[in-house]
Amino acid sequence: MSGPVHRGVCVTLLVGLLLVVAVGGCGGGQEAPGPESGPEPSVLAVESFLADIAQNVAGDRLKVDVLLPSGVDPHSFQPSPADAGRVSVAHVVIVNGAGLEAFLADLMNASGSQARVVEASAGLQPRLSRWGDEAGESDPHFWLDPVMVKTYVDNIRDGLAAADPAGAAEYERNAAAYQVELDELNAWIVSQVQRVPSGRRLLVTNHENLGYFADRYGFQLVGTLLAGVSSGASPSAQDLAKLEDDIRRLGVPAVILETGADPKLAQQVAQDTGARVVTEVHTHALGPAGGSADTYLDMMRHNVTVIVDALR
Ligand SMILES: [Zn+2]
Repeated sequence: MSGPVHRGVCVTLLVGLLLVVAVGGCGGGQEAPGPESGPEPSVLAVESFLADIAQNVAGDRLKVDVLLPSGVDPHSFQPSPADAGRVSVAHVVIVNGAGLEAFLADLMNASGSQARVVEASAGLQPRLSRWGDEAGESDPHFWLDPVMVKTYVDNIRDGLAAADPAGAAEYERNAAAYQVELDELNAWIVSQVQRVPSGRRLLVTNHENLGYFADRYGFQLVGTLLAGVSSGASPSAQDLAKLEDDIRRLGVPAVILETGADPKLAQQVAQDTGARVVTEVHTHALGPAGGSADTYLDMMRHNVTVIVDALR
């Protein structure tokens, strides 16, 4: 009886040894992170609309955080030390570019950031500001034209893929799907604008932010309350008189303010000219979560609905 028992013990020991070798081979120090097996990068987008667009490209693979608090104007944003801290730990920072984020260079320096900076508007040909001291400066408001946002999506897709090559195929698929939604949004806007008689497709805005939108959809940019494509300088009495003349002469139905803008000047112009003031257009930040403008696509649909209803 001793022979078979002894053999059985040997077999058991041998199997056990093989298991130890096998387990050791799989788990023992052979998983040094390669370029494609590290954790997903942490991604920070400056504006809320940019974070939403980037999240659509990132899909479920990573979470895109946003730097600017809701309702804050990127033109006049003053970063805090806490903002520098958030930038310092990001692997990828997504910016609009084209001069929108005047604070950015100082913030990147102050944070000591080594992040990959993805400029969403890179490669787009800017229109030039028409009025005031900023006349001739590049207009950064590309995102208010969804056809131009297709370039944002290309740049964000490429930036995420460069930072996280293992996710490239996923970003490619997500970007292609979102491009289809942008095409659908564009077609919908074209159909909505048809509801406004061509002679009433006239825009007066708080600052010069709807230039690309106007060019894409056949609106005439009549004028702005504040001159320029950034924070905007207060108008002279002469500028204001000319704007009011133009509003009366052309019969501009409404003055379009972005949310958060001081309505005082618009109310004065409205009173002088008979135009109405529209205040609920979201141009530089998404609306509150759960509202009608809490994604980029919904923000655009909301804005177009408000503008079309005000002008038709
Ligand atoms: Zn602006």
